[in-house]
Amino acid sequence: FVGAYQAPSDLLKNKIILITGAGDGIGKTAAKTFAAHGATVVLLGRTTPKLEAVYDEIETAGGPQPAIFPMDLSGAQIEDFESLAEAVRTEFGRLDGLLHNAGLLGQRTPIGNYNFSAWQQVMQVNVNAAFGLTKAMLPLLEESEAGSIIFTSSSVGTKGKAYWGAYSVSKFATEGLMQILADELEGVSSIRVNTLNPGATRTSMRATAYPAENPKAVTTPEEIMPTYLYLMGDDSKGESGKHFSAQQR
Ligand code: NDP
Repeated sequence: FVGAYQAPSDLLKNKIILITGAGDGIGKTAAKTFAAHGATVVLLGRTTPKLEAVYDEIETAGGPQPAIFPMDLSGAQIEDFESLAEAVRTEFGRLDGLLHNAGLLGQRTPIGNYNFSAWQQVMQVNVNAAFGLTKAMLPLLEESEAGSIIFTSSSVGTKGKAYWGAYSVSKFATEGLMQILADELEGVSSIRVNTLNPGATRTSMRATAYPAENPKAVTTPEEIMPTYLYLMGDDSKGESGKHFSAQQR
């Protein structure tokens, strides 16, 4: 737990950081926070007007000019990730950070009742797309002096819980993907890779999962940003293959 981390205001100066699901919730706040600390952010998401709104907010706040890449991860193929990598290479020549944040909650129902195609869709967005995007971006991350990959996990990614179905399984898979990649890169690459569990955070996904909860009682995305900054910035150099939590509770 590094939630008390205090980031210098220029922590991410000159860094190029790609964020998936950057139009809403935690991803939106992460994009704005990274930009406020000097990063040029590449905003990936499926709803273009939401990405444009984040772009405008960053410009208005005086941050470095972002880039927008609309993409629906539920239908994305390897060619889509490769053309995104090509565009990032042309524009920036490298990638310093990759935050896998986009996620689907899917159904909350017993395994015996879980719809097969709904299951596949959650696995596609939460796992397969993260794999494909990582694969396509690895050469660009190798161009960075110290690339950082963050996969977004969950408390149900390390402990299975009734009715959390594909979402929980997808987060277990995310932990596995992180561990395998970290092990492969150790000693041969300067890229570090970790998982981050944001913990209960006030977003529309949380409100869908816990409809009876008072949102005001839930931690805001802004409050969990110290850990996101720590893992993206050079202060976490050398940390790899680990699971982090953004909140103590
Ligand atoms: P939100 O639902 O608020 O935001 C998710 C973002 O992902 C949205 O911007 C959404 O786009 C985007 N997204 C979803 N599906 C796709 C897709 N097919 N293609 C492209 N983008 C997509 O979720 P949170 O901010 O709460 O969650 C962010 C991450 O944190 C997720 O990985 C989640 O599992 C994890 N998490 C969240 C917790 C919480 O309490 N909030 C707790 C533990 C983990 P659009 O805006 O267009 O819908």
